[in-house]
Amino acid sequence: MAGKTTGGPIDAVKCPSCGRPNDFRDIHAQQLLDTGHTLKCDHCRRIMKVTAMRVIHLVQVAVDGATAPNRTRLPPPRQATTLGPAATQRLLHGTPRRRR
Ligand SMILES: [Zn+2]
Repeated sequence: MAGKTTGGPIDAVKCPSCGRPNDFRDIHAQQLLDTGHTLKCDHCRRIMKVTAMRVIHLVQVAVDGATAPNRTRLPPPRQATTLGPAATQRLLHGTPRRRR
């Protein structure tokens, strides 16, 4: 049975030992981030293993048509960092969403 699992967006992956966020974007850029790879926590120096990775698709939408408010600038796209702990757990563990 696997140990405690945590996770998060790539720029704030929670360490399973100390719970503090790690930025793995550099590691990903070097193509060293993959399932089964081990990584060291920046904070507590303990080793964690990548057990799963999911790609999140972000969709930006805007009001279309004349009823839109007087704004010329689009709101910034939602960042993956806004993912809450519950949503992160859902992504990692694939808990099925309840549907009617
Ligand atoms: Zn740590």
